[in-house]
Amino acid sequence: MSTQRTISTIRTATPNSVGDGFIGLNAFHPQGSRPFNPFLLLDHHGPMQVQPSERPKGVDQHPHRGFETVTIVYEGALEHRDSAGNKGKLFSGDVQWMTAASGIIHEEKHEREFSRQGGRLDFVQLWVNLPAKDKMSPPRYQDIASSQITTSTLPGGGAFRIIAGDLAGLHGPANTFSPLVVADLALGGGQSETLSIPASYNLMVYVLSGQVTFNDASLTRGQIALTNSDGDTITVSTTTGAKVLILAGEPIQEPLAVYGPFVMNTREEILAAFDDFKNGRMGSLT
Ligand code: MN
Repeated sequence: MSTQRTISTIRTATPNSVGDGFIGLNAFHPQGSRPFNPFLLLDHHGPMQVQPSERPKGVDQHPHRGFETVTIVYEGALEHRDSAGNKGKLFSGDVQWMTAASGIIHEEKHEREFSRQGGRLDFVQLWVNLPAKDKMSPPRYQDIASSQITTSTLPGGGAFRIIAGDLAGLHGPANTFSPLVVADLALGGGQSETLSIPASYNLMVYVLSGQVTFNDASLTRGQIALTNSDGDTITVSTTTGAKVLILAGEPIQEPLAVYGPFVMNTREEILAAFDDFKNGRMGSLT
C-alpha cells in the first residue's frame, strides 16, 4: 500500500546573481540547507538574455571544498576550466557533476561562441554535500552529455530525464557518494505523473517553468516544495504545462560548518580550508 507524502514547506526562490553573468534565483543556500539535506544549494540562473560580448561573462576563479557542484544546462552554453587541468563546454541538456572534495579552483563562464552571439541562457546549479569520510577525497569530474542521460516517456505522457539515482525504473548516469536522485520532468498541459521514492529520502520539487500541483500544493516557477518523510509516492500534475526538477536523497546526519565556498563538518576544517586556499594548496588556474 503506497502513501502519498505530505508537503512540509513551500519556499519561493529569491533574486540572486553570481559573478557578472549569471542572473536568476536562489531557492536555498548552505546556511539554511538543513531541511534540504543532502542538498546544500539550488541556484536557478535564467532564463536570461545574454547580450553579445567578445569577453565571456560569468564567475572568475574561486575555490570549493567539501561538496559537489552539479550544473544542468537547459538553454544556452557554458564553459569551465579548473586547477586540475580540466576544461570543457556544456550545451543544452548537458550536466557537469564536479566533485570538489579536497579542493579545486575553477572559473565558470558563458561559452565563448555563445557569448559572441548572445542568446537565452537557462541553467541550474546544485551543491550536493559529501559524507565526512569523502570530503577530502581527490577532486573528480563527470561530464555527462545529454545523449548519455536516459530519457523516457512516463505513463502519463511526461518526458522524464534521470541524471542520478533510480526513479521510475530508470537509472541515472551520475555516480554519487550517497544515495540520491536528481531528475527532470517535463509535463504537457493536462498531464499527471505519480512516482515512487523511498520514504527515508528527503524529497523536494523545484518548478523550473509553468505551474504545477505537487501532491496537495500549488506551485509556480521559482518555488520549491519540501515533503515530509511520511510516504513513498509523489504526484505532479499541471494544466498549463510545466518543467520541474525532482531532488531526493538520504540525509547525511553529520554536523555542517559552512563558510562561503567551503562546506565542512567543523570550524577547524573551515580554517584549514582557508589556509590551504591562501597558500596555494588547492592549486591554481593557469
Ligand atoms: Mn563554482
